[in-house]
This record gives sequence, C-alpha cells and structure tokens, in this order.
Amino acid sequence: MFGAIEAGGTKFVCAVGTGPDDLKLTEFPTTSPRATTASAIDFLREQSNGKLKAVGIGSFGPVDLRLNSSTFGYITSTPKSGWQNYDFAGAIRTALRVPVGFDTDVNAAALGEARWGAAQSLSDFLYLTIGTGIGGGAVVNGRVLHGLLHPEMGHIRIPHDFNRDPYAGSCPFHGDCLEGLASGPAMQQRWSVPPEDLPANHPAWVLEAHYLALGLANWVCTLSPRCILVGGGVMRQAWLFEMIREDLARLLNGYVRAKELMENLNQYVIPPRLGNRSGIIGALVLAEHADQKQQELAASLPTSK
Ligand code: ZN
Repeated sequence: MFGAIEAGGTKFVCAVGTGPDDLKLTEFPTTSPRATTASAIDFLREQSNGKLKAVGIGSFGPVDLRLNSSTFGYITSTPKSGWQNYDFAGAIRTALRVPVGFDTDVNAAALGEARWGAAQSLSDFLYLTIGTGIGGGAVVNGRVLHGLLHPEMGHIRIPHDFNRDPYAGSCPFHGDCLEGLASGPAMQQRWSVPPEDLPANHPAWVLEAHYLALGLANWVCTLSPRCILVGGGVMRQAWLFEMIREDLARLLNGYVRAKELMENLNQYVIPPRLGNRSGIIGALVLAEHADQKQQELAASLPTSK
C-alpha cells in the first residue's frame, strides 16, 4: 500500500491505496506547514495500519528537486506565507519512516495521466492546469522533465496587446506573464466576476482562449508534445477547448506538419481523463518509484555473512 499527498496552496488531498480503484481519500484546507503536514501524517498512519511502503508528494512550488541538493524536497521561494524554505519531504520521511517520492503537483499529475489516464503509451506529452495558477508538467522521452530545477510554464511571457486588454496582470513577480493574464484570479480581477459566472458568449473567453493558445503554440514549437492535456478549474467551461483549438490552429498556421495538429486537434488538446484526481493518483506513482528505488538500493548493497 502506498501513501499519496497532493499539496495545493489552498487545499491538501491525501490518499492511500495502490491505484485509482482502491483509493481512500481525504482533503483539508492548507494552513500552516506544521498543522497541515501533521493532518496528512495522521491520515496516512490511520488508514494504512503500518503497511505503508512509501509516500509520494506532488507539491505546489517552487520546490527543490535536485537530488544532490541539501534542500532537496523543500518548498522554496513560494509567495505562500509560512511555507518558504520548508523541508516538506523531510518532515514526512522523518514521521513515517518510509521512502518519499517528491515532485511538482503538475509533474505528479502528468505521471498519473501517463499511468492510468489519457496519456497511456505516450512517450511525449504535456499536462497543464489552468486554475488558481497555471502550471505544466512535460513528459519527454517517457520521463518528466526537470532540467535545472523544474519548468515554470505558467510564467512564460506572451504578447500582450494593451489596447485590447489594458489589465496589467496579477503575477507578483512578472505582472503580465501567462499566469498573470490567464489564471482564474486574473480573470476575476479583470472582469470583476469569478470565471465560472461568465457566460459562454462573454468576450472574456475569446481573450482567455487566445492567451492559452499562445502558450500552447510555444510548447508545440519547443517540446513537440504528442498530446496536450488541459485541466484545472478554469477549463471546467468546456466550450473553451474548441476556442483554444481554433486559435492554436490559426497561430501555428500550418507550419508544424502533423496530422494531429492539422486535422485532429480535437484529439490533441483534450481534458485529462482522471479529472481532478490526476495529481493525487500521480502522487501514488511517485510513491511507487520511491519504493522501487529503495529496493534497487537494498539489492545493490553487499550482504553481510
Ligand atoms: Zn509570473
């Protein structure tokens, strides 16, 4: 049995199980690191009866994923009060005494979709979430992309026509980066209503689809994904998918010659199959990886005689 934690800026989801069919889940609001982590530890202890093999964490960030770093497993420069420089993976490992797998929330979600969701058998794809923030996890050659730290896809810069959209943007670091222009809070500030209250024919959605299509066009050109899964609260307005596909086709203008982009965009830009469970189910995959790594390590050590 594995433990899983999906740590978000507003709520934590915790689960024990082995896959989507036997998950036992709970969720609670994110408060201080100490209290929130304690609730997660209590739940995992109670539900597992001491049978936990490993725990996987998909966390909000930024986080430190460099295995040789002294602050591996930390949440680092987050604007979320109290959580800066917090040894998240260490706190869980110390309390539960099991291997801990740690990655970003979106990388975890990508792993969940690869294992049990819409991206099974795809070696290269992108998972995006458009909600309170914007984030992306890329699977490249069958592995989640980390690179130097980890990608920050929500913070790419896109063209911003101030005549069309005078809103300055909501990102505390960049103003009008993609997240600053197209996250749920950005939509709410610009239009003074939460996105879910804006009707389908509101001009907000044309602008939103355009910003997201600009992001997608950049990732099609840089990462060449075989499929793009787009989830998150803002994407619950299902009409947005077709608007994004149309704008994406217009932006690419036939240059990238693949049937997926020319004819089958309705199978290329799609919702995640695990819905809002991608992240927590992906955290189980992280736990499984941590357990495998532990077993490989044990097997490689010389046995005492
Ligand atoms: Zn930004």
